[in-house]
Amino acid sequence: MAAEKNGQEVKGSIFIKHLTLFFGVFLLCTDVFFLVMGILYDLPLIRYLIYVKLIVNSTNIYLILKKHYLISSLIIYTVIMAMMIVGVISLGTTPAFQLYALGMLSCISYNGYLHRRVLKKELPMAILMVLHVACYSWVYLYARSHEPLYVIPRVAEDILISFNSVASFSIVLLYVCLFHHVAITSEEKLEKMALMDNLTGLYNRHYLLASVEQLEQSGQLEKGKSWLALLDIDDFKQVNDTYGHNCGDHILRRIAEMAQEVCKGCIVCRWGGEEFIILSGGKKMDTKVVEKLCRRIEEETFRYEEKNLRITVTIGVAGYENGQSHDLWISEADEKLYYGKNHGKNQVVM
Ligand code: GH3
Ligand code: MG
Ligand code: MG
Repeated sequence: MAAEKNGQEVKGSIFIKHLTLFFGVFLLCTDVFFLVMGILYDLPLIRYLIYVKLIVNSTNIYLILKKHYLISSLIIYTVIMAMMIVGVISLGTTPAFQLYALGMLSCISYNGYLHRRVLKKELPMAILMVLHVACYSWVYLYARSHEPLYVIPRVAEDILISFNSVASFSIVLLYVCLFHHVAITSEEKLEKMALMDNLTGLYNRHYLLASVEQLEQSGQLEKGKSWLALLDIDDFKQVNDTYGHNCGDHILRRIAEMAQEVCKGCIVCRWGGEEFIILSGGKKMDTKVVEKLCRRIEEETFRYEEKNLRITVTIGVAGYENGQSHDLWISEADEKLYYGKNHGKNQVVM
């Protein structure tokens, strides 16, 4: 389970890296585009900004590769806003440079998220948003009261309108994708954490109870077909007392593995402490697998730090009765287990 968790984290961080990297490269491409436009239509202010942007954006790629996503995201915000201001001052509002301000709203929100996650600090989002909108409004009002610095042909304006629209909407889309990914993966992680047992990697009691309920509601539980086995390790306290708690943990993990191997097709969960539940719900499974598991554990030599241990378990099995509550079903298995414990242990009581 730990490996699976790590795998998921690696997958998540690779996704964020790729997306941020794509963004960095995307910005470099826009630099090339604006540089060509700046040279073709003689727009010195835009050209100068692009020279600076080329250096900043190349450094940014390095920062992304080094996983400095927070600084990188701040740089992305600054250079895009600078592009918007210089674009509107140079050419007015017609070529739609002001659209970048819209795209950058999602960047502010992403920065807020990163600050919270990485630096554990809250960004004053409301103030930042107000400043952002104020900056946009100022640029727009400036353009209304000042003539653009340069005049470009209509075709160049059309090219810029199209490019700026596609670029700014792509920015919004990219950040939305990023947030979507973050939300889905963290929800899945939380869901797993709530239903899994950390030590053994098995499902926990919450999952089992939910499964029983779901099987019951979908009518898959049937008398004579469905059964539930409650397994308890014999004299486990003695194992802990003699060989230590870590050894006890090792035994719990091994028994969890063996139960999964032997009872394929059943739901195996850690009910709590040194107790496990094996549930055969939907498909018809022979209770013989429980007997097989009991014997496998008895025959196994458990090795821990050069020591050989023999372990036995007692199992109580209860068949499903139509309309029976899961509490009653489990307590019936518990009664059988109790009987087994009082009659020599190391056995399956049906
Ligand atoms: P019995 O045969 O009657 O079941 O005896 P027992 O010793 O197995 O039962 P008891 O209920 O007295 O002890 C259960 C022990 O299980 C006590 C507790 O320390 C141990 N245990 C419960 N959870 C864990 C765990 O996560 N790790 C380890 N190492 N031990 C655990
Ligand atoms: Mg017990
Ligand atoms: Mg026990």
